[in-house]
Amino acid sequence: MPIPFNKPYFTGKESAYINQALIGGKISGDGPFTQRCHRFFCERYGFKKVLLTTSCTDALEMSALLIDTQAGDEIIMPSYTFVSTANAFVLRGAKIVFADSSKENPNIDVTLIEALITPKTKAIVVVHYAGVACDMEAIMALAAKYNLFVIEDAAQGIDSFCNGKPLGSIGHLGAFSFHDTKNIIAGEGGMLLINDDRFMARAEIIREKGTNRAQFLRGEVDKYSWVDVGSSFLPSDMIAACLLAQLEHIDDIQQKRKKLWQFYYEGLIALQEAGKIRLPQIPAYATNNAQMFYVLCANATERSALIASLKEKGIQAVFHYLSLHNSAYYSGKHDGRKLEQSDYYSNALLRLPLYYDLSNDEQQLVVKAVADFYKK
Ligand SMILES: *Cc1c(COP(=O)(O)O)cnc(C)c1O
Repeated sequence: MPIPFNKPYFTGKESAYINQALIGGKISGDGPFTQRCHRFFCERYGFKKVLLTTSCTDALEMSALLIDTQAGDEIIMPSYTFVSTANAFVLRGAKIVFADSSKENPNIDVTLIEALITPKTKAIVVVHYAGVACDMEAIMALAAKYNLFVIEDAAQGIDSFCNGKPLGSIGHLGAFSFHDTKNIIAGEGGMLLINDDRFMARAEIIREKGTNRAQFLRGEVDKYSWVDVGSSFLPSDMIAACLLAQLEHIDDIQQKRKKLWQFYYEGLIALQEAGKIRLPQIPAYATNNAQMFYVLCANATERSALIASLKEKGIQAVFHYLSLHNSAYYSGKHDGRKLEQSDYYSNALLRLPLYYDLSNDEQQLVVKAVADFYKK
């Protein structure tokens, strides 16, 4: 039996909840399931303001609008990230200033940020890669010193923490994803956390096509109208129904994923000790939400050979981001700085299968296949 890289897990309640939404007769946005998801997040994590969105990409685009990104503004972010992190700001005319990743993990190297700040810098966007926190204390201190906004791309960061604070709730804004490849899924889906009071009212307006419809629905105004720019960023209540079914099982899902992660770690630690590969490191201020398990090969050639060797055994392992500063779209706009760590992770990082239904036998096969490759 082939072992795929990912297999979406369903708790069993999704179809009943989606059906309930249909029977309710109203499946547009901000229905009862959306409200229940919002409440779940506020109660469990103490989030101040939560808005479900159709994707993390949309939550990032909302963030770019909320901080009033203008043509010529500079936004600092890692190059080793998904295109949406950058695209959201490029759509508003901003210039992306890419920072290198840290040597410890693919997160932004905090020590490099200050030198990249200019009078045009508007925000720092951090990405908590693999759900492992960036050093948020250092980043928030820099942002305070230079009066910058901090947006957390916490697409992979659900149920993970930095010095005890949930990811996504530390910067001014936090964006999450519920795409099939994440821990908690709704097919396509996302969420924006608004942590700064200045953005609360406007976030609702931008999400509802630039209207004050949310206020109208709460009975705070007697009609709604066009009051600002905006777009349609809210998901159908069917998406929220699927999401709620997942959220009600979050502890079980997280426990299972962490167990799988730990099994890989213990099974492969000997290869790290023998100097063959590197395993993920979790800094003392961070937690591990088992979003993914990756190994770091010596270089791209070795990684390709490992991918091929695993594929022969029916195991699908996949690499991840290609540095955005080298991309077809942005390489001509990048200032030419070399970003060695970013390129290293692009070339050397390999993700192993990790999903709820991965059996122990299958996991043993993966560990053995990696070990056998390095015996040769
Ligand atoms: C998954 C992911 C996204 C995009 O999420 P969507 O919900 O698919 O838009 C953005 N950034 C990072 C870091 C991601 O991992």
